[in-house]
Amino acid sequence: MFIKKYQTVLFTFLFILFLQVFLFAQKENLKLSEWINSWYLLGPIQLEEGSSTVNHLGRFETDYLSEHGGESDLEVKEGQVEKIGSTTLTWFKHTSTDSTVNLDEAVSKKSFVAAYAFKEILVDQEGIYVFSIGTNDGGRLWINGVEVWDYPGARGLKPDEDLIPVYLKKGKNKILLKVEERGHNWGFAARILPFNIDTFTSRGKLFQIVTLQSGDAELRFSLNDKIVKNLFDSVDLKINTDDHNSELVWEGVWTKKEKMKLDVGSNDYNHYILIITAHRTDGKEWKIEIPFVAGKRIDYTLFGNGKTSYRIIVGENASESEHWAASELQKCLKEISGADFKIESDKTEFTDNEIIVGYNKHSSQLLGDNFTSPDQFDESFRYKNVKSNIVMVGGKQRGTMYAVFAFLENVLGVRWYTPKVTAIPTREKFVFNYINDFEEPSIRVRNDFYYEAFNPIWAARNKINGAMGFREQHGDIEGYWSVHTFYRFMPPSEFYDEHPEYYSLIDGKRVYENAQLCLTNPDVLDIITERLKETMKEHPHNLIYSVSQNDWRNPCQCDKCQAIVDQEGSQSGIIVWFVNQVADRIKDEFPDKYVGTLAYQYTRKPPENIKPKENVVIRLCSIECCFAHDFKSCPENQAFLSDLERWSDISPHLYIWDYVVNFSHYIMPYPNFKVLKPNIQTFRENSSIGIMEQAAYQSRGGEFAELRAYVIAKLLWNAEADVDNVIDDFMYGYYGRSGQYIRKYFDLLHSQITPNTHIHLGLRPDDKIFSDDFVRKADKIFDQAEIVAENDEIKERVEMARLPLMYLKCKRYPVNSKYDGTYERFNKIVEREGITHFAETGKPHIEDFHNAIRNAK
Ligand SMILES: [Zn+2]
Ligand SMILES: [Zn+2]
Repeated sequence: MFIKKYQTVLFTFLFILFLQVFLFAQKENLKLSEWINSWYLLGPIQLEEGSSTVNHLGRFETDYLSEHGGESDLEVKEGQVEKIGSTTLTWFKHTSTDSTVNLDEAVSKKSFVAAYAFKEILVDQEGIYVFSIGTNDGGRLWINGVEVWDYPGARGLKPDEDLIPVYLKKGKNKILLKVEERGHNWGFAARILPFNIDTFTSRGKLFQIVTLQSGDAELRFSLNDKIVKNLFDSVDLKINTDDHNSELVWEGVWTKKEKMKLDVGSNDYNHYILIITAHRTDGKEWKIEIPFVAGKRIDYTLFGNGKTSYRIIVGENASESEHWAASELQKCLKEISGADFKIESDKTEFTDNEIIVGYNKHSSQLLGDNFTSPDQFDESFRYKNVKSNIVMVGGKQRGTMYAVFAFLENVLGVRWYTPKVTAIPTREKFVFNYINDFEEPSIRVRNDFYYEAFNPIWAARNKINGAMGFREQHGDIEGYWSVHTFYRFMPPSEFYDEHPEYYSLIDGKRVYENAQLCLTNPDVLDIITERLKETMKEHPHNLIYSVSQNDWRNPCQCDKCQAIVDQEGSQSGIIVWFVNQVADRIKDEFPDKYVGTLAYQYTRKPPENIKPKENVVIRLCSIECCFAHDFKSCPENQAFLSDLERWSDISPHLYIWDYVVNFSHYIMPYPNFKVLKPNIQTFRENSSIGIMEQAAYQSRGGEFAELRAYVIAKLLWNAEADVDNVIDDFMYGYYGRSGQYIRKYFDLLHSQITPNTHIHLGLRPDDKIFSDDFVRKADKIFDQAEIVAENDEIKERVEMARLPLMYLKCKRYPVNSKYDGTYERFNKIVEREGITHFAETGKPHIEDFHNAIRNAK
């Protein structure tokens, strides 16, 4: 008994001894990637309280270890005493149980103090390693007496926050860490990782740029020579301006010094990019771009306390849209700030504090000789500040106007959600030191075919420039004259009796009802060409004029027509053959105009040999597609996608006729928002000159019409737009507090889509994507949305968002809807909002809808 007990005690003793030797050994072999948890610690050393985050706490810089070699050549033994001011501190061993060394526990809970941690590591193989460090708060690190890392300022502890390449020699290596404490938690976590330049350079901060108070920018590389020698043969540096022009400012070679001033050649505050190309000793090249700012930063006050020292300058020769944009700018600025911004001409003397609208005497003086007048029709634009002046420049037609609206939107937060709802945030004061933006359209002709989007003021503000036919709009539009025009040019009432041969031969008979034209008849070519010319003279404002098939099938089967169709392997062959001839005949007289034709339904498949002429635009229609999934991802859309790609290959220009609503039920939920962006991107990739997004165009009341019209406008301008951000912004801006619930409903609706649920233009109320459970959940969300609505106006917007759900309920549960108030409420909202179409067919559809409810028992 006794012996056994003794043995247990002995073993316990030996085990503890072993642990002591193992864990508290002063020299420890390098164990890559393991947390270093045993250290010699010394502290707390009282520092001075400081509020600066750019510098360490007061007295941090003092070397407290000078008696034993100092911070750069320290020797530590257990129990070693350091004299610090009038007191003494003793080095002691500490082992933490996890990755973190908790200095609050181990050293002190005081604030505004520092501690040292010391460690010796034995290394078998010399080379470059990565020292990983996280500290709370700032600190400094020495490896073998060389400072390799420094972080001033407060921060929370994140293991692996900083990765520092370090050179470790064979044998003993000394690690000294100094960590300061500003309050709250105090501690650090450290380990040594294997070095891999490829992964390291993507994560670590090999180079850093610091902008000093003076405005000078410094490139810093705080590692010793040995590492540089082992990593790089040479390093090339290039500085570009960080804007659209990306102008080269300076080029040179890295001095391999710890600090190097970056010469940007100007003291004006600006944004730059440093491009580092490092030629590695292992033969590889490594490239990184670091954005930075340099120059004296000066704050300019655009307005404050209802006053401004700025004026708006418009050129003597400004266009109509530039004048209008300037007055819109003036009005918006007044609402935002309460201040009066005068509009003055560029005949006045050029001064500081001008907002210059358009390319004119003042902007050319400000921007210098390098900047030339933009082309009149160039829609791209830029707005930027040059010292205290702000200039907004683009092409005269629309570019400048877009610059002004983009400035109001991006810089001052103005939103034009719908023709009726504009959000203008008011501000006491607006101060800037750097404004710089350049934008250009993703799609040349942008046609947002929503009733809500036809308002010309809203359209101009949201950079919509396309329309079917002509409409008066600031900055003008690029119109598309008509569609399905065969009979418009050649009405059967005028020609059929005397010339039945102008019309389709079907089963041996010339017919005109639901038919097309005989396109190989030379008279047809003459008549259409003549009448097209007349049309172009009568309606000169359009860009594209349609010569296209009627909205049904039955193309001509005569031998001549059929021969071309057979040769081209598609009905589109004869259309292109015909339209090419029309286009040839009008091109001299109308060199800037296009002839458009449809690739639609029976003509969607491209021809095998013939190609559209330079002034022909193919208007390809996506009517058969699935809109639950984008073109590329849905197997049902592959035929369309390959037609699109083939058309894109053979046509100089495509103009897309795309569909974004359910034509059979405008007011029913239609979860297609996820495909809007990828589909527009696919069109852009396939060189589309324009996109028309056909929507609920006859009246208000389309499902999420306001939101979809808005999102489409944003995407047609910028196909890279962050749709989720745009939607969130709209939800909160347009629906106020209720927006969070509308977004919840929106997400619920879109979550009904799975890879197997395809939706088309005729989506039905009994489709499997709608379930009783969905309706119940959606109703609950809308109840909450209505409760939190700020006022009646917003509540009415929420009701409009809810209308599709009411419609769905009326269709799915007519009896219930009749008696539980759903149908009554639906009608009330429809009347209040003046909704005239529930579907493209209008009146007959509405009558059927009401009858179904009335007859429901
Ligand atoms: Zn024919
Ligand atoms: Zn699909």
